[in-house]
Amino acid sequence: MKTIYLIFFLLSTLGVHAYAQQKPYMDYVLSWNGDNSTLKVELTYSASQKDSTVFVFGDPSFGGQNDIFNVIKNIRVTQPEVVKIDHATRQITVHHNGAKKHQIRYEIDGSFNKNQPTVISQTELFRPVITKGLLTLVNKQFTLEITDESNPLVSFIWRDHPENFNYFNSIVPSQRDPLEKLSADYNQVSEMVYFVMGDNIDVREYNVMGIPYYSVTTKEDRYGNDLQGSLSPFFESYFPSIHRFWNDTDFPFYFLAVSALQNNQKEIGAGGFGIRNGFVMKLGRAFDTWEKYVTAHETAHTWVGLKMMLGKASFDHQWFGEGFNDYTTLINLANSKIYGQEQFLHYLNEDTLKKHYESEVKGAHNDSIAANYWTDVARRKQ
Ligand SMILES: [Zn+2]
Repeated sequence: MKTIYLIFFLLSTLGVHAYAQQKPYMDYVLSWNGDNSTLKVELTYSASQKDSTVFVFGDPSFGGQNDIFNVIKNIRVTQPEVVKIDHATRQITVHHNGAKKHQIRYEIDGSFNKNQPTVISQTELFRPVITKGLLTLVNKQFTLEITDESNPLVSFIWRDHPENFNYFNSIVPSQRDPLEKLSADYNQVSEMVYFVMGDNIDVREYNVMGIPYYSVTTKEDRYGNDLQGSLSPFFESYFPSIHRFWNDTDFPFYFLAVSALQNNQKEIGAGGFGIRNGFVMKLGRAFDTWEKYVTAHETAHTWVGLKMMLGKASFDHQWFGEGFNDYTTLINLANSKIYGQEQFLHYLNEDTLKKHYESEVKGAHNDSIAANYWTDVARRKQ
């Protein structure tokens, strides 16, 4: 009996081993000491091409950060491998030179330039933020893009991290220990994931119609915000209301991550972006009427803009993507009593119709909106 068991055991481990070798992989090991602005990254990967592997870092179309390649530093490999870096194309080519194991190491600089304070929330939204006591990262800001179709299994694990910091990841949000390994297919990860870690971070879980919802916020900021308190009506009323509106509960989970800007000197209103199963917001002032609207509008895009889209991209047919989304936003803000009659009418008349009426680009063609979005404030607000 013992022998049979042993043979079976050997066969099954061999089977697992053979599979692990076949499936392409990218294993990220991350380190941060909680104090400085550097994330250390060690990537072990399988090479799908014998001679060399080409990676790309950064995405200038993500928030218009054209110099994003500057945040990756000290890229190195072990001999006999050799690394070549092309700053213009952001390509990192590793020549393997017969090496069997492949590892690339680099650092992500998430520091701020104190002399250039944040003046719009986009700056901190679309850059890695790594500062004393707080780290917020979208995977595009620290992982490498591959240039083939191999769809490797991607994993993340923290080797060094400060003890007693709260941690959130949007791959498996129920996993709260950074020492536990996270795994997902490359194609899934490339739709963006979010990492938050900090001693000033609070993570709460809600059950919204059977769906786990996560509220991830900074605990304290200089504007006196109680963000968990400000967001709780969304979890208790708004999200149930919009789920009922669409009669849709087909979600694995949803998260809302709202954190204070770290490098601003003036008060700055909220900005954010939606990612897979979640919404990320940064703000530099009190969470008030406008911030409630932004939260409601952006999370409503889960349906109009993501689950429902006219055309091939979310910039197509803005009358539907933004117009109809805003309709669902306002209806559900009112339904959930987060907006009263006065706020409802103020948004409609003062914030929307009057601004449109007075806009100098109100006659501009839709195509010019996407092309000039990041450079022209009038178009962005159109
Ligand atoms: Zn929108």
